[in-house]
Amino acid sequence: MHSNCTRKLLGLEDILIKNVIQADSFVRIYIETKPSTQICPHCGKQTKRIHDYRSQTIKDLPFQLKHTYLVLRKRRYSCSCGKRFLEKYTFLAPYKRRTLRLSYKIIDLLRNLRSMKSVAVDTNVSVSTVSRLLDTINYSSPSVPECISIDEFKGNTDAGKFQCILVDAKKHRILDILPDRTQKHLSAYFRTWNRTQRYRVKFFICDMWEPYVDLAKAYFPNATIIIDKYHFIRYVTWAIENVRKRLQKKMPSNLRRYYKRSRKLILTRYNKLKEENKKACDLMLLYNDDLRTAHRLKEWFYEICQSEKYKYQREGFWEWVKTAEKSGIPEFEACAKTYRNWSQGILNAFKYKYTNGPTEGYNNKIKVLKRVSFGMKNFERFRTRIIHSSI
Ligand SMILES: [Zn+2]
Repeated sequence: MHSNCTRKLLGLEDILIKNVIQADSFVRIYIETKPSTQICPHCGKQTKRIHDYRSQTIKDLPFQLKHTYLVLRKRRYSCSCGKRFLEKYTFLAPYKRRTLRLSYKIIDLLRNLRSMKSVAVDTNVSVSTVSRLLDTINYSSPSVPECISIDEFKGNTDAGKFQCILVDAKKHRILDILPDRTQKHLSAYFRTWNRTQRYRVKFFICDMWEPYVDLAKAYFPNATIIIDKYHFIRYVTWAIENVRKRLQKKMPSNLRRYYKRSRKLILTRYNKLKEENKKACDLMLLYNDDLRTAHRLKEWFYEICQSEKYKYQREGFWEWVKTAEKSGIPEFEACAKTYRNWSQGILNAFKYKYTNGPTEGYNNKIKVLKRVSFGMKNFERFRTRIIHSSI
């Protein structure tokens, strides 16, 4: 092969390949550069005088899936000013024993949902090298979007049990990961955002957690607060689940087992059930007045949520709340009370259709990352990796 092609294959400019050793598990490539006129870093004069050579082994990207080492014949020049200096290389940072492109590759591989260990193994470096490279990645505070969605997830990092995720609900982009969801922390964080920009935020989407609403009012005073649909729907799901559990306790054991197994029949939307399951569901409800009422309320609420017409949803919502409050079923009375307290945010969800849906995707990513990394003790690295894997 023409030597120029060999160079192209290696992908390093301005080098000469002197020898290649292929072993089963590694490739060693002996390289050097052509001597050239140098500028002395000490006095700025030109020099061509070579002082000596020394060989250095440098790790490079795996070639043919083998550990690859470049053995570089490093040249030292001497200058008329009396100083000596090492040649500089475009592919190597000073004092580093791996090529720049290997470092970039490691950083790139960290975008994938895999452990630092496996990245280290594939790139023939230590885990501590991978984590040092991870630490060089820096995602600073994001620019403030029009729609902010906030949600929490269980991270168990050194910073605490619950972490927050902020997402641009309109562009579906991750904004930031915060170490904890306490009001104190979130206040301090939002204060770092530009005030004028904060005042321009139009929507703030969150779950039914009072501190979120207080924060939104304090830091995004012009934002419409929206309660995330999936979070408030859950209250109806929990209510009917609790009705079923309560009734089960009074049942004979054979019937109790049946009701327990039939959990999904009751939770699934009735019109999504197969014909035979509809019959089974009907039968369960027939003998149970409370469960029948609960089921009717659940179906009704789901139907309101799925409607596209805000006016219908608004009227239906209030009608539902009033009916549930008088239903005589404590689980649904409690649910209706909660809905009444949060009615403004719930109605806004119907009106504006924004949800925390986009954060869900990130939550899944976080779960995978946690699993492959066997948890994530160091919060800053955890944050970097989540953002890094998302943009
Ligand atoms: Zn000099």
